[in-house]
Amino acid sequence: MPRPEKYVSRADLGWGESPAQAADPKSGLVIHYDSSNQRLAAKAHEECLAYWRRTRDFHTGPSRGWADIGYSWMACPHAYVIEGRGLFRVQAAQPGGNSSHYSVTLATGPTDVITDGQVNAVRQLRQWLMEPRSSIGGTVLGHRDFISTSCPGERAYALVIDGTFAKPPTPTLQEDDVPGHHLFKKTTAQPLAPGQWASLQFTERDGISGELYALVGVDEPNGALYDLSVGVTVEGLAAGEEFQLRAVEYEKKGDAWQPVRNRPIDSPVQAGGSGHFTYSWKGDLAKGRRVRIRVVSYGRTPVRVTDATADVFHWAR
Ligand SMILES: [Zn+2]
Ligand SMILES: [Zn+2]
Repeated sequence: MPRPEKYVSRADLGWGESPAQAADPKSGLVIHYDSSNQRLAAKAHEECLAYWRRTRDFHTGPSRGWADIGYSWMACPHAYVIEGRGLFRVQAAQPGGNSSHYSVTLATGPTDVITDGQVNAVRQLRQWLMEPRSSIGGTVLGHRDFISTSCPGERAYALVIDGTFAKPPTPTLQEDDVPGHHLFKKTTAQPLAPGQWASLQFTERDGISGELYALVGVDEPNGALYDLSVGVTVEGLAAGEEFQLRAVEYEKKGDAWQPVRNRPIDSPVQAGGSGHFTYSWKGDLAKGRRVRIRVVSYGRTPVRVTDATADVFHWAR
């Protein structure tokens, strides 16, 4: 793991090298918070940077009088690691561990949410610090493990105790990652009752036959980015009768898959008789969900889908 992926350095902040004393903390990482809710998760990332600057002013100002901002880093709700004193510096964060451990604050208050991105930023930071150059131990502690304090708050401390922060980072998607690809085909006709949405049933995936509805999510239980394009042939449409199709996300409720999120409809114009329609959609599928294609016709007479193909690219999480 190189330096965390989303990293704001002191140079980015316009700060020079930290004037704090040198140190080589090796024993692990200590989690901190703010004693009041900052609601940064609901704000733009610029507010995190403004918070960090204010914190430095406060720590170096008359009431604290420290050499620099007290912490080594901040992990913000937008998944950035923001540099404080940075590598190889004594901190003013956890008395008893200021030169043996590194510190990272979540800048959350007692009831602020801790985002997945924030957890992942801490995980990336920890993995980076475990590399040979700084080679810290993997231990993650809370401020309260050193002195009597509410810090890092009940929510963050629960994640310290259950080992959440000490897990490997979740892989993030890189633009150059090679996507998975599937080609779906439908070779049997499917009648459509007027005015009723139906899931398109495919009959073949990559040349292997089956009764297939989900285009994404079967092999990607942790979610995926996907990019699909579908072509559908429909017979029996009268001129001007409307045919619509769209991607729909499903989630398992009890034993059944239920639609939970409709993606935009495509409502192609057609001249009647038989029509070939195409639809494409790029989406971000949450963990546990699947994507189907649903179709409807609003004619007075039943129509049928005679064949369909779907080209699906996916980047699994
Ligand atoms: Zn603290
Ligand atoms: Zn932020």
